[in-house]
Amino acid sequence: ESLSVGELANKLGREPSEIIKKLFMLGVMATINQELDKDAIELICADYEVEVEEEIRIDVTDLEIYFEDSEEVEAELTERPPVVTIMGHVDHGKTTLLDSIRDTKVTQGEAGGITQHIGAYQIEVEGKKITFLDTPGHAAFTTMRARGAKVTDITILVVAADDGVMPQTIEAINHAKAAEVPIIVAVNKMDKPSANPDRVMQELTEHGLLSEAWGGDTIFVPISALKGEGIDHLLEMVLLVSEVAELKASKNIRAKGTVIEAQLDRGRGSVATLLVQDGTLRVGDPIVVGTTFGKVRAMINDLGRRVKEAGPSTPVEITGLNEVPQAGDRFVVFEDEKTARQIGESRAGDALQEQRVEKTRVTLDNLFDQMKQGEMKELNLIVKADVQGTVEAMAASLMKIEVEGVNVKIIHTGAGAINESDISLAAASNAIVIGFNVRPDVNAKRAAEEEGVDIRLHRVIYKVIEEIEFAMKGLLDPEF
Ligand code: GDP
Repeated sequence: ESLSVGELANKLGREPSEIIKKLFMLGVMATINQELDKDAIELICADYEVEVEEEIRIDVTDLEIYFEDSEEVEAELTERPPVVTIMGHVDHGKTTLLDSIRDTKVTQGEAGGITQHIGAYQIEVEGKKITFLDTPGHAAFTTMRARGAKVTDITILVVAADDGVMPQTIEAINHAKAAEVPIIVAVNKMDKPSANPDRVMQELTEHGLLSEAWGGDTIFVPISALKGEGIDHLLEMVLLVSEVAELKASKNIRAKGTVIEAQLDRGRGSVATLLVQDGTLRVGDPIVVGTTFGKVRAMINDLGRRVKEAGPSTPVEITGLNEVPQAGDRFVVFEDEKTARQIGESRAGDALQEQRVEKTRVTLDNLFDQMKQGEMKELNLIVKADVQGTVEAMAASLMKIEVEGVNVKIIHTGAGAINESDISLAAASNAIVIGFNVRPDVNAKRAAEEEGVDIRLHRVIYKVIEEIEFAMKGLLDPEF
């Protein structure tokens, strides 16, 4: 850290000319704007009997700076395993698939390992590793995205062949699309006599997923998660998509990544599962995790084994943090403990402060301001209504609105009450939720309040259109 003569004078509460004189006495010719090195600063401070305290002030979002550090430019990039999330409608077989993959693959070559549920696991296929986040469904996926973390490389969309595309299937597709994550479709329950994979393919075309067999580019794999059939093929396809994505990371830099889950353990204190996304994490590393910090005391892998290091795409459970971080928090390893502590403490302080500051989520009331400041190029909307026909009619009219170069983008639609998934998608994508003849359920209402998501309820279609249009033109009357 360097300071100019003027800045130093200011900090010491002295006139710059006085500092310049002192420097002159020390044999240094300086002007007011001259940057001083650490030694010179220390000499001057010693003269005033002031102790130099290296001040490291970093605000909460600034862990990103370290996260996107340019270190990797010099670091040697190598292939890393893909991180896969399994999503789909309830009861379509997500948990069964996660268990089935784990049971068949995880223990090979790792005899005697006892499965530990740490929130993610890693398997090996044809000598290549694949990491699975083992919280099924899109809640985890979106929670992380809402916190700015991009963890998932590939989504497996599970659709039961006897049930077809259901509301949460569509939600999952829109979550994956919003995050720009490639989708592989696993058509599950193929062992059932009532299985109808063609219907699944047909229904998914309506949501932009056209099978390769029909000239599209979405991979469909028929499986039976229950019987373990088609799993090998599915995993091969994961590797294929992963190869195309050219996922790279470096092994030889300080680790950074994201918290998958964390809790307080009675015996061990704060326990967090970290997904290393770049670099190598080692026992003893000084680390900042969200607004917490510490030194990695012990690391345990998904087989409950103690490990000394973890490379890219590896999930590990660590202890040694001063507090419990949150899922989706970023972590960064620092070179020394002092820095980690300073940054951790400063971030914790800023986080407290930030809680008091209102979130800057888009609402119809602040929309116009955000547009004026050029911060918005697209207004994301989620449209829910009582019947599908209305949803489509509304979406079509809304998409036609264009004001001052800002487009309306419908990121999700559906018939039925506004649910928690709608809110989390809105939070992750900075969207406004419109309900037509429907209301938010209890959980959605609570989530919307917590996340500061704007929900607009209407009973007359033209009012919806008018409200959005007025808001975009800055003509909306403030709500009382
Ligand atoms: P989730 O809600 O998506 O996690 O679904 P689960 O994995 O809990 O599965 C729901 C039900 O479907 C359970 O009773 C499973 O045994 C059953 N199931 C899952 N996969 C298959 C399959 O491939 N074939 C059959 N016949 N049943 C399955």
